[in-house]
Amino acid sequence: MAEKACKNCHWIVDGKVCPVCNESSFSNDWRGYAIIIDPERSQIAERMKVDTPGRYALRVR
Ligand SMILES: [Zn+2]
Repeated sequence: MAEKACKNCHWIVDGKVCPVCNESSFSNDWRGYAIIIDPERSQIAERMKVDTPGRYALRVR
């Protein structure tokens, strides 16, 4: 699997445009995996400043 992560918001993308921020700049070079189900109660979501539930890469280069 060659999933890509959005460079802007770290969303793991399977389309051509990021559904969260509408960016199309993706990276194959990412690490870590966070599934955020409840952004309001997630410390990871708070640290990454995301408010959409979904799958995120922890680090994107
Ligand atoms: Zn994005």
